[in-house]
Amino acid sequence: MNRELPLVDTFGRVHDNLRISVTDRCNIRCFYCMPAENVTFLPKPQLLTFEEITRFVRMTIPLGVRKIRLTGGEPLVRQNLEVLVQQLRDVEGIEDIGLTTNGILLADQAERLYRAGLRRLNVSLDALDPVKFKQITRREGFEKVIEGLTTAREVGFEKIKINAVSMRGITESEIIPFGRLARETGMEIRFIEFMPLDAERAWERDKVLFASEIIDELAREFGPLLPVGEYDAHAPASEYQFADGVGRIGFIASVSQPFCGSCNRFRLTADGKIRNCLFSLEETDIKSLLRGNASDDEIRLAIRQSIWDKKEGHEINAAKFIRPDRPMHSIGG
Ligand code: SAM
Ligand code: SF4
Repeated sequence: MNRELPLVDTFGRVHDNLRISVTDRCNIRCFYCMPAENVTFLPKPQLLTFEEITRFVRMTIPLGVRKIRLTGGEPLVRQNLEVLVQQLRDVEGIEDIGLTTNGILLADQAERLYRAGLRRLNVSLDALDPVKFKQITRREGFEKVIEGLTTAREVGFEKIKINAVSMRGITESEIIPFGRLARETGMEIRFIEFMPLDAERAWERDKVLFASEIIDELAREFGPLLPVGEYDAHAPASEYQFADGVGRIGFIASVSQPFCGSCNRFRLTADGKIRNCLFSLEETDIKSLLRGNASDDEIRLAIRQSIWDKKEGHEINAAKFIRPDRPMHSIGG
């Protein structure tokens, strides 16, 4: 395997973690992500093909990329996703492939994905109350997600993580039920602070339910939460376990405790743009290079330049913060 210098930015951060969006479409309409109605989706020819995605991933291996996660939009609405999983699994150098899904189509696809080699699964579920689920997602589907989780466990997925966005005034009532779920099933619950990436631009700092508040609430009910595992500066989630050793909880506290200083991630959008940060205002167009017969070296240079241009941090908490134009479903979360 050819090796080049790692993908480093001007702050010395090394990037080995790539998140790939396979579609901007979705089968539900979470209010913190998509508009309720009338969404304009990318025309299909603008989506990178599986072959283009795989070529891109192969080109990043000499640059040090080792971990990838498929996301979207909802990745399971992309036809035959297991074919892409298989192609990526066969790329020499890739050590870890994950998928983040809303779980609605998981019962149908879990076995195929597992057989294709997928092992890491994050399922997004913000509420264990079906009424609240519908209020947040603006669609039916709660039972489908639960069915998807059950099937995924049956076909062999271990250590499934649940992603739950925490929003003040909405999800406080879900904290204890999620704590109980973590303790009863062994699935890790990861609370994600609501970020300013909603299509309807309704985000305000006051609407974020902070990780520290959730920790306090869980501790009151189940006893103290203690940090677990070896400290991993690159992991966005801080991981905890209850003092009695039963139940894992993670927090992605992007608003109250930004982890930009140790960020090792970059993104490829469904329409083939590199984003060096979830909140970046600039993108690098890779699709036109892929379709314009650029050489691997030319594309690698473009990737390197994009990472080199990465800003120090997202500045959500600063007055000068500027939201990106693209909402979350179009960036790839
Ligand atoms: N559709 C898939 C899903 O929901 O898991 C994958 C894409 S989704 C954009 C990826 C993750 O981003 C989900 O866990 C979702 O809850 C989270 N997310 C979306 N919008 C968010 C926001 N404004 N703030 C925090 N997390 C958000
Ligand atoms: Fe769809 Fe995921 Fe966005 Fe919800 S968070 S609307 S499931 S892309």
